[in-house]
Amino acid sequence: MKPVKLVWADNSANDYPNLQKDLELATETALRYVRGALYVLYNGYELKSSYRIDKGKKHFERFFGAFDDGRYTTVIKAFKDIHNELSTRQMTYYVSKENLDSKKLYGSSQENQADGNINIFGLYLKAPLLGQDSKYGVIIHETSHNVIDHISDQNATYSLAETEALARKDPERATHCAESYEYYVEFGVASGLITPVPDPNTSTGWVDRGGDIAPPSLSFPDNYSVGDGKFRAWAGTGKGSYLDRSSGSPHPVRDADSNWVGENMRSRWLDAPADKTTFSVMFNINNSVDLDTNMIRGRWAVDDEGEMYHVDPQTRAETLVSKIGAPGYGHWTEFVAGTQHGLKHGTNEFRFYIRNAGGGPGGLRVETEKFQDWSTT
Ligand SMILES: [Zn+2]
Repeated sequence: MKPVKLVWADNSANDYPNLQKDLELATETALRYVRGALYVLYNGYELKSSYRIDKGKKHFERFFGAFDDGRYTTVIKAFKDIHNELSTRQMTYYVSKENLDSKKLYGSSQENQADGNINIFGLYLKAPLLGQDSKYGVIIHETSHNVIDHISDQNATYSLAETEALARKDPERATHCAESYEYYVEFGVASGLITPVPDPNTSTGWVDRGGDIAPPSLSFPDNYSVGDGKFRAWAGTGKGSYLDRSSGSPHPVRDADSNWVGENMRSRWLDAPADKTTFSVMFNINNSVDLDTNMIRGRWAVDDEGEMYHVDPQTRAETLVSKIGAPGYGHWTEFVAGTQHGLKHGTNEFRFYIRNAGGGPGGLRVETEKFQDWSTT
């Protein structure tokens, strides 16, 4: 994503010192969840899990009406166009004191211009970052007008009730309604259906479509041994009973009504033996990635506690990225890693020092988000 640009129509910029950062975060959040929406749209009808299929289809029909191949294609194209605008254009926000004082509008943009230009108004300032009628949702709404898909407000369809009614009564218009796109994402995120898209190379227990992932291709330092997926454990600490991919069923300790973070089609737990284990994953950052504007985001969970470091493969310098205290298995802990943690072009390593007290089954769970080269085709 390119840094966002603010264009002031007057000289009141100093009255809004946080607006640049605020719009940057909202734009980045919009981009991450539009990726997540595309992931659900592409995979939601094909994955073997019937739970996933039913939930994805129901959600689609709630906002875009009865499922139909043509409308499905229309929605995917619109989200791809929104994704491409947010990720490749310099999003430019036009602001003035007069507009920011107005309490009638969130934003506006020109239909079918694909120029990345959006006007911001007073209601945006009062909106929450996440949730219904959120800041990131406003960005999705306005960007949907802006891409060349003829997405309008359909006679001022703004409320949840109006949006759902439009989907029931006139699905064709629902697929050309900005509020439908905003709510599809906002309510998908709120229900857990839509999340940022994890990178299979640096997330644990990837089981997309039930297939095996490619064997690790990076060369590791001598004292590593092969663990599960592309995560490896230090030799000598015991590798534990790694998840059996072929069985496809989670360890009983983590079944649906346990209090561990539930397994899903995006990531699964890696087993860890009692006491201390070190897990490691290495990854490559392409020279074309601008590390000033791209951070790696993700979330992790651990039984019972642990520390996550970035390790420089050349100097072996370790920089703390995130720390989880016991008990750390029942909730996600978000992390962000950037150049301040030593992230650089070429080979990088994330290392997880974890400790499982008490002798029961331990585990590590990591979802690292894709942040570059995400293909929507
Ligand atoms: Zn609108």
